[in-house]
Amino acid sequence: MWNLGATHPTQGRRYPNALTEFEILTQIEDISYTYVEAIPATREELSRVHDIDYISEVLDSAIIFGARTPKPEQSRIATLFAGASIQGLRSLIAGQATTAINFAGAKHHAQFDHGSGFCVFNDFAICANIATNDFDLKVAIFDLDAHHGDGTENLTRSNSKVFTYSIHQNGIFPGTGKESFPEDHVYNRPLRAGDGDSQLLNATDEFIRLSKDFEPDLLFIAAGADGHESDPLADLQYSFEVYEKVARTIRTTFPAMPILMGGSGGYQPDTYTPSIWASFAVALAS
Ligand SMILES: [Zn+2]
Repeated sequence: MWNLGATHPTQGRRYPNALTEFEILTQIEDISYTYVEAIPATREELSRVHDIDYISEVLDSAIIFGARTPKPEQSRIATLFAGASIQGLRSLIAGQATTAINFAGAKHHAQFDHGSGFCVFNDFAICANIATNDFDLKVAIFDLDAHHGDGTENLTRSNSKVFTYSIHQNGIFPGTGKESFPEDHVYNRPLRAGDGDSQLLNATDEFIRLSKDFEPDLLFIAAGADGHESDPLADLQYSFEVYEKVARTIRTTFPAMPILMGGSGGYQPDTYTPSIWASFAVALAS
């Protein structure tokens, strides 16, 4: 299990917790799903958006976030996080699913040659590269994590077949995302602390409007739960209920659109984070 220490914000148990909650909700809502065991992303897949020396640093020297990790298995787990999103993407492209869920996906801060913000490999940027280069598909990425999706933006910005939209709290990590660059299909919506549900819902509407103009073949959603009102790492004051509302709005607008969901951030591992992810996933899959 992903483990950077007992007091680290990213507790790996939030993923099995989310899966347990997801299973309960799917039974209540009578939704069927297929559980797929993750396989690691290959070096070739990682190298689509990452520096080969950085990949080697993580995989061969077990250096994560600039320091040798005392738990070398974390390197392999990072490749599983990315691999799971790639498997989800391939199932969407093959028409085997309309919604693919990787609670451990959307590691949106990972950059070309270094990890950042608890993110080692940028699975959404890798998947966008595969979808656009190998399958000539267009991808829209909606990032509602409380932090700016800087890595994903940087790694996809030169790709005209990718549209990114990030809504996030201004002034917190990583400190970027204050501007939009429509000519590059890059949109940012910085919010103030305490802005709450209405701004998230407005942003969802704006994302949908811009997406319709862009005409994507696939949607990726970084469904970070750290905007929730009691999350310790941000102060956006979103309610629990608004997440499901966002997911239902997107799914209702794009009923047949293949959607890849990643959990991104969320720092209430035993309570709201897994509950938000599960309700969001079920709403997309309904
Ligand atoms: Zn975050």
